[in-house]
Amino acid sequence: MSLLEVRDLRVTFTTGRGALRAVDGLSFTLDRGRTLSIVGESGSGKSVSSLAIMGLHRDAAVEGSIEVDGVQVVGAPADQVRRMRGRRMAMVFQDPLSSLHPAYAVGEQIAEAYRLHFGAGRRAARLRAAEVLGEVGIPDPKRRLAEYPHQFSGGMRQRVMIAMALACEPELLIADEPTTALDVTVQAQILELIARVQQDHGLAVLMITHDLGVVARAADEVLIMYAGAAVEHGPALTVFAEPRHPYTRGLLNCLPRLDGDAEAALIPIPGNPPSLLSPPDGCRFHPRCAERQERLPCAVSRPLLPQPGPAHRAACHLLEETR
Ligand code: SF4
Ligand code: MG
Repeated sequence: MSLLEVRDLRVTFTTGRGALRAVDGLSFTLDRGRTLSIVGESGSGKSVSSLAIMGLHRDAAVEGSIEVDGVQVVGAPADQVRRMRGRRMAMVFQDPLSSLHPAYAVGEQIAEAYRLHFGAGRRAARLRAAEVLGEVGIPDPKRRLAEYPHQFSGGMRQRVMIAMALACEPELLIADEPTTALDVTVQAQILELIARVQQDHGLAVLMITHDLGVVARAADEVLIMYAGAAVEHGPALTVFAEPRHPYTRGLLNCLPRLDGDAEAALIPIPGNPPSLLSPPDGCRFHPRCAERQERLPCAVSRPLLPQPGPAHRAACHLLEETR
């Protein structure tokens, strides 16, 4: 059994203009010690999926199944999910300032989470906070316990968030754009830190990003999302070397190339992702697809990822032809 098993996840928001299905039939598994990157443009459903795994959607209908270490999150009582957060799964967000409380010392915030989950006393919780701050590479952690979030640099704040996530010894770490707000050097340090704590603790890491550079550095596997669904899933190196879905090929063409003229090599995908209030029939990528074929049912029938599938799979009629 995988640590994380997501089956046919659907997340629907009710809006003034109708039902908006932000995630529409997402399935994947993730094992301990592995990093899976979910990649997509903004609005593709990647963050919505990660919040659903954390049980944080109060304002949406969540259907399907999400099991963390065999425990169901979908439909579970709120207090049960609250207990799972921290102990089984923890999350690091893009912007630590919005997740850390500005008016409490960082040591207090980490200790609070630890006391809540372990019923530890004040002293033990303080020791634990200093221990995890040290673990994530914050110098002189005992002294810095008393400092406030604004007294830390952006990179150090992200380390504090990772320390807070680790405090309760989760098995699943979800990192949503953990390096987007940081400069390049600090980005590399944070990715290295995540990789190190993953190894030390045997964590399963789910890394949400729009940045294929992050995927190339950090992920074992990659899952590409488009308009609320997975279009390709496989080992990261294989997907980069032999992308099977036209959308993935388009994304890779958008990457600046290391050899030669970076500007000239950028080929963005024409058009925009569809509105999820009224997604197109058939393949959701068909209005933008450069490889669409008249002989294929691209505009009428929706290709799905083979389930359960081979290690590298993609949802495209072109591939069904060759299977
Ligand atoms: Fe393109 Fe058709 Fe494949 Fe969709 S199913 S990605 S439209 S070729
Ligand atoms: Mg997001």
